[in-house]
Amino acid sequence: MYKIISLIVLFFYVVTFQQSEIFSKADLIGKASMVQHENEYNLRTEVYDAFVLMQSEALKDGINIEIVSSYRSFEHQKRIWTRKYNRFISSGLSPQKSIDKIIEYSTIPGTSRHHWGTDIDIIDGNIMKPKDVLLARHFIKGGIYHDLKKWLDINAENYGFCLVYTDNVDRKGFKYEPWHFSYKVTSRDMLEEFLKIDIKEILLNEEIIGSNYFTKEFLDTYVINNVLDINPDLK
Ligand SMILES: [Zn+2]
Repeated sequence: MYKIISLIVLFFYVVTFQQSEIFSKADLIGKASMVQHENEYNLRTEVYDAFVLMQSEALKDGINIEIVSSYRSFEHQKRIWTRKYNRFISSGLSPQKSIDKIIEYSTIPGTSRHHWGTDIDIIDGNIMKPKDVLLARHFIKGGIYHDLKKWLDINAENYGFCLVYTDNVDRKGFKYEPWHFSYKVTSRDMLEEFLKIDIKEILLNEEIIGSNYFTKEFLDTYVINNVLDINPDLK
């Protein structure tokens, strides 16, 4: 009898605590609200807790990990998109070329991993900031964030963080982003859920500048290259 009761208790424990979280469409496309922590870091609580732990350990080694971008809403991403689109168009590029240029580093609103509250762009706050902090050359040997990169290469995974857009030469989609990390446990589940929603329908119903050039073929390729061609550890 005792054994049966134990099994029933175990069963309910597994059902209650092991079930993965359900994410709404709003959670996945940057239209839900996000918890705001100290330092104005907007992240899911488990991600923030893991980050704070990593940050305090790095400080002991003289690295001051600072987040320059955490959660971004749909509207925020839309502002980035619009600014870049207008800039490329006024520099003389065609709409298609402008879009191709934007998606070297920036996502179409609704498709950013920054919408999930699991992804962060980080630098070393101990170093005086240059005009543009998020440049790959800062992270290579001789670059101002090379010590940060070396520390992250060894330690980030211990705190659950993985690089998303790696320097694998065969990788397509977004260019190498040595500053962009993702909290694996949660973002893997969110990616799985994100792939179930009809992103094409969402994008075509939003007023995104240049979206009349989002053909079915373009969006299919975008999902394959820009959404899915990431560090395999995150899938
Ligand atoms: Zn990023």
